[in-house]
Amino acid sequence: MSNNSIASIGYEVFFDNTLAALDNFLQTHHYSSVFILTDRNTSAHCLPVLQAAVSSLWGCDIIEVDPGEENKNIDFCVGIWKMMLDFGADRQSLLINLGGGVVTDMGGFAASTFKRGIDFVQVPTTLLSQVDASVGGKTGVDMDHVKNIIGTFTQPKAVFIATQFLETLANRQLVSGFAEVIKHGLIADRAFYESVKVKGVAMDLEDIKHSVAIKNNVVTQDPHEKGLRKILNFGHTIGHAIEGYSLTHDNDPLLHGEAIAVGMICEAYLARRLNGLGEAALADIIHTFRQYFPDYRYETGIYGQLITLMKNDKKNAGDRIGFALLNDIGACDVDVFVAEDVIKESLDFYREVIG
Ligand code: NAD
Repeated sequence: MSNNSIASIGYEVFFDNTLAALDNFLQTHHYSSVFILTDRNTSAHCLPVLQAAVSSLWGCDIIEVDPGEENKNIDFCVGIWKMMLDFGADRQSLLINLGGGVVTDMGGFAASTFKRGIDFVQVPTTLLSQVDASVGGKTGVDMDHVKNIIGTFTQPKAVFIATQFLETLANRQLVSGFAEVIKHGLIADRAFYESVKVKGVAMDLEDIKHSVAIKNNVVTQDPHEKGLRKILNFGHTIGHAIEGYSLTHDNDPLLHGEAIAVGMICEAYLARRLNGLGEAALADIIHTFRQYFPDYRYETGIYGQLITLMKNDKKNAGDRIGFALLNDIGACDVDVFVAEDVIKESLDFYREVIG
């Protein structure tokens, strides 16, 4: 491991704007063929950057999917598998996933199942995929609007993170990824939270590395989410329900990070009410999220739907709704079960906060 990389579960995550580590990886691994999975946007904006940095990737076969979560499904996976077959992929082939979390999740899944599994590497191109989806080994696709319901735990052979990809990313997407950066500080590293809450999205490669290191520290201790890894779900129990609701009801639905920002305010309220989080800490968290994220307005009439969505979350067992709740900034507990009426209280609290 060098000082520009982090060791994860059997592979390294490289932080390197020159992408020399990827060049080196390709030279030292002798793959029979190399394919690059992109979506339309990363074909246009990221592929030229990648090929300019790693000249051996000129002339590779490109597999392009349509962008967006609605295309992260088994039909597009079948398309990927067929193209790999057409291009003559064998078990010594490599798939490079160049894109946001949709491409890295679906490409990881396609590679982990093609011919019982071929090697893949991740080149994440959104802030969200760099700080979150790039480590942990979760791959998958959605089915019938249920997110990531089909998938595997498969580690990539390496991850290559470079900030120049972020230059073409829409600001809204950048801010969305920032929610996960803030979350990493809140659950495990107070000093990092204090630093990024002031800096905002203008983060450098070191900040991104620090954020990845926090997640990596958690997932390497608990790869299959038996305990500790659940702290990464802070804000996500309510956030996922809000995201699911928004996706099916709003013309311009919330992005993932925008929804979990709402979820983190609600769950910080629960943490104050039930888990010892201080009043000042709650106020600080609310201020931070409201500084960067738009308010989301909803009526009490949707609470029933939100609770149903929470109960259907695949992370829950039975009817009980479990939470990861802070006990302080930088410290988080898991498996705190909360009664429905208290969850509704937290939804009321958010509505009062935004006025
Ligand atoms: P995304 O992949 O849909 O990317 C967002 C948009 O930005 C897309 O339109 C994409 O084409 C475009 N884009 C990507 N890179 C770009 C660039 N450099 N310049 C311009 N446009 C660019 O979404 P996302 O937010 O990156 O990822 C969300 C997905 O990640 C979800 O499916 C979620 O389930 C998954 N995820 C997985 C994990 C995991 O542990 N595996 C963790 C978090 C999220």
